[in-house]
Amino acid sequence: MTRRVLIVEDESRIAHWVSTYFGREGYEALLAEDGLTGLALALEERVDLIVLDVMLPGKNGVDVCRAIRRESDIPIIMLTAKDKESDKILGLDAGADDYVVKPFSPNELLARARALLRRTEGLTQEILIGGEVELDISARRCTVRGESVALTSTQFLILAALMRQHDQVLTRQQLLDAARIDGAEVFDRTIDSHIRRLRLLIERDPAHPHHITTLYGAGYTFRS
Ligand code: CA
Repeated sequence: MTRRVLIVEDESRIAHWVSTYFGREGYEALLAEDGLTGLALALEERVDLIVLDVMLPGKNGVDVCRAIRRESDIPIIMLTAKDKESDKILGLDAGADDYVVKPFSPNELLARARALLRRTEGLTQEILIGGEVELDISARRCTVRGESVALTSTQFLILAALMRQHDQVLTRQQLLDAARIDGAEVFDRTIDSHIRRLRLLIERDPAHPHHITTLYGAGYTFRS
């Protein structure tokens, strides 16, 4: 059966763009431009996933989420405005499963949708998502900007360690430990060389890396 996604978003440009991307993944999309219509569709139609904007006319996304949760456990991803920490917390408190901060990339939203559906469908898998990079731990699969990327085991373990503790600095020693590299032949440069190759594989511009940044004298950090 075709999966159906309900997109509740009053900005028609975003709604159509999101529905196009879900369409390419084989979803049928239902659109609602205000909270009350979204709520009605969520409760009346067969829907597998809801993408719910917070700022909506009529009834806001947090209230819609709360109302849906009284009736249903359909997976819900909220779209929250940047710098509005409170929206994320309100959304999660209202029963949303996940959120994506605007502006977001379609691949990030789709990756979160896939991860959420896998989780709710009972297939427990650990999926790490950081911006354009998706790491499926159990399947040992790395996807960057929607394309599959082949990593060596060492690259995979290093990237997983960085993504698990994103926005924190990991020292070269911590990364060596994570990648289970040991022995007398190991130098700091070992990690630097793995990082250089990882950047070639995942960064848009490896010379100016966005995801894996160097903190000189300290180590490396992953950010979305
Ligand atoms: Ca909106």
